[in-house]
Amino acid sequence: MSLFEHKEFDNHEEVVFCHDQASGLKAIIAVHDTTMGPSLGGTRMWNYASSSEALTDVLRLSRGMTYKSALAGLPLGGGKAVIIGDAKTQKSDALFKAYGRFVDSLGGKYITAEDVNIRTSDIEIVASQTRFVAGTEGKAGDPSPHTALGTYLGVKAAAKHAFGSEELKGLKVAVQGLGAVGYDFAEYLAKDGAELFVCDVNQDSVDRAVSKLGATAVSIDEICDVDCDIYAPCALGATVNDDTLKRIKAKVIAGSANNQLATPQHDRILKDMGILYAPDYVINAGGVIHVCSEAASFSREETAARVRGIYNTLDRIFSRATAEDRPTGEIADEMAREILAAKAAEKRV
Ligand code: NAD
Repeated sequence: MSLFEHKEFDNHEEVVFCHDQASGLKAIIAVHDTTMGPSLGGTRMWNYASSSEALTDVLRLSRGMTYKSALAGLPLGGGKAVIIGDAKTQKSDALFKAYGRFVDSLGGKYITAEDVNIRTSDIEIVASQTRFVAGTEGKAGDPSPHTALGTYLGVKAAAKHAFGSEELKGLKVAVQGLGAVGYDFAEYLAKDGAELFVCDVNQDSVDRAVSKLGATAVSIDEICDVDCDIYAPCALGATVNDDTLKRIKAKVIAGSANNQLATPQHDRILKDMGILYAPDYVINAGGVIHVCSEAASFSREETAARVRGIYNTLDRIFSRATAEDRPTGEIADEMAREILAAKAAEKRV
């Protein structure tokens, strides 16, 4: 497998293949870019079919973190790690300790946190071997409330551009997923007088939204068919795809889910369909801002101000996309690269 020629390589600074025979650890840590500061990104545990699949995933995810933190105005670079294995059967203290020693060996160039299949308790074990962790118990805590707030503000920015006003009163919003982020987000919308259509595989969450927020319950298969103004994916990735785009009636797609577009080409397809898309990594940056507040010791006020900044960032992305007649995702990536180039130039003088 060739790393430097890999299609997702994109000038990664460092890629570390970690192996510990005693614990069975196989992991890859990818540090994409530290122009803005030490790289921060979660560790994901996944039963990848091959190490090449794991490499592709970690390279793509770490670059995403560089862009996300740059656009969120954080003093952080982008990195990510994957542990190859079954999270149900292969977790052990020895494995996370060995992993922690690898994180530590990077001397702070990479700071880790939770991601898919990694819990706070796992990160606590990693933290026994390295101080380069964020999101541990008793520190910054759950990022979801800040993610929900940022997503809500992002929806207001999108409404301003798509409907001429940031007021959400009377707008119909289809919320897919009422988990840690989705429920709080739906609560903000309900307070503003939006008309909610909700779904979740967990019936209790749906019942709660119906009784407490006056939402209308929709089946998980029909959420994309709802006649609404805004579709808010807050559960799974890749829900914006060729099939759902035949059904989605919304003029705005804005939600907290990661990797909402099935392919990068869907960014342009959405533009051509006249649907305003709030790039996922911009609108859901409340979580990384929250985690960074721990690593960078932001005050509570500073953290909240940075989350509120998501509105302005999206406002700028939407304005530029309209002015240049280009897709919003493409503009967001370009703006992130501009921030990195400016910082790199500043460092050179
Ligand atoms: P969560 O696991 O708490 O909630 C996800 C919800 O989606 C659950 O209630 C689950 O039952 C529901 N769900 C699963 N499959 C579904 C389906 N087919 N249709 C409808 N609902 C379904 O996760 P979360 O922390 O609320 O995160 C939601 C999304 O936001 C994820 O994509 C996550 O990656 C992203 N995100 C979260 C944060 C954060 O701070 N938690 C930060 C950035 C991005």
